[in-house]
Amino acid sequence: MRARLDEFVIGQERAKKVLAVAVYNHYKRIYHASSCKDARSGVAPNKSEIENDDSDSVELEKSNVLLMGPTGSGKTLLAKTLARVVNVPFVIADATTLTQAGYVGEDVESILYKLLMVADFNVEAAQQGIVYIDEVDKITKKAESLNIGRDVSGEGVQQALLKMLEGTIVNVPDNRARKHPRGDSIQIDTKGILFICGGAFVDLEKTISERRQDSSIGFGAPVCTNMRLGGLTDALVTSSLLESVESGDLVAYGLIPEFIGRFPVLVSLTALNEDQLVQVLIEPKNSLGKQYKKMFRMNNVKLHFTEDALRLIAKKAMAKNTGARGLRAILENILTEAMFQIPDAKSENVSIDAVVVDEESVGSLDTPGCGAKILQKDGVLDPLLYQTKSTTDPVERSKEAEGGLETELEISSKAMSL
Ligand code: ADP
Repeated sequence: MRARLDEFVIGQERAKKVLAVAVYNHYKRIYHASSCKDARSGVAPNKSEIENDDSDSVELEKSNVLLMGPTGSGKTLLAKTLARVVNVPFVIADATTLTQAGYVGEDVESILYKLLMVADFNVEAAQQGIVYIDEVDKITKKAESLNIGRDVSGEGVQQALLKMLEGTIVNVPDNRARKHPRGDSIQIDTKGILFICGGAFVDLEKTISERRQDSSIGFGAPVCTNMRLGGLTDALVTSSLLESVESGDLVAYGLIPEFIGRFPVLVSLTALNEDQLVQVLIEPKNSLGKQYKKMFRMNNVKLHFTEDALRLIAKKAMAKNTGARGLRAILENILTEAMFQIPDAKSENVSIDAVVVDEESVGSLDTPGCGAKILQKDGVLDPLLYQTKSTTDPVERSKEAEGGLETELEISSKAMSL
């Protein structure tokens, strides 16, 4: 499972490990439950089964997971990737759309209805599914006081979720058809459903640093300032503080203790650093670089990034503080002009061979660059790309680049083949 997660998600080692364990245990629990059932329905249990009876009566309970991490650090991506990896019904729900029972909006049961839909209304399968609830930090008491217009308390939603998280039998209204005039409902036991919640928990680090500061009274500057003086960036300070999160901090943040109590596993995700952002651009199976390459390939145009350009894009994204989410916006900006020109080029009989993104195209940290460069001459890139492809080692490639080729050629020899 970990290996499959690695194919799509960069970094976040601890979160991957915790999720892999949680989902693996989930499977074990399902397997255990079904094997118990088989044993019970069996005709005559043999002696060893009777001996095992004691261990069979041990009921395995689930451990729901709470993911915390800055925006664009891969929380939703991890959940989505898990959905691909595991073969149980999986839904992603949004906590902000939920309301307390009786108010206009989605009831918490709607999550289970979605799960049922994914499982093709196979109740047995739905009861073993996984639910990811995003943005749980938006249903805190704190969020409520910020949003005066909202009449439904976030706390009410937390309370509504409580029973479901722990395990109960929920009556899910069957909206499928008006065939059932009495409004039949389907009973779902949530005992076997694994809940993973995620949220950015903005400013939670302040609560944590306050707590840690309390315990270090008399030792001078507060924890945060100390870390900043140690040369860490804001994002890194936040990530390292989040690692030491305790349930008390989440209570201070506005989640009710009963809610937090149902999440024995708390995992924090770290903000991605520059190297990791470069990796996000080129390595994952559907990385942004590969996506744009494919888009250009549909017009028979090759798209190339130089290594320096990739690094500069990562730097710009870091400055935006939106994690990997900023990357797409930056790439869009750089490539818009090229994407505008290319479809017309054919009708004007101009043959565009390649589009190259180098440092100049990206610009500097606070000024926009000139945009991607369009190379019109036929076949200029091909022989050189052939050379670069033959040496996959980045060190070798950079050695080749040092060969001192002329402008256009130099760009292409450095061009990365994604
Ligand atoms: P959030 O943490 O806010 O839920 P997402 O998981 O939705 O962020 O990430 C937004 C996009 O950023 C993803 O679609 C993905 O392309 C990219 N991304 C974020 N984190 C990673 C990561 N660790 N590895 C690879 N891509 C990532």
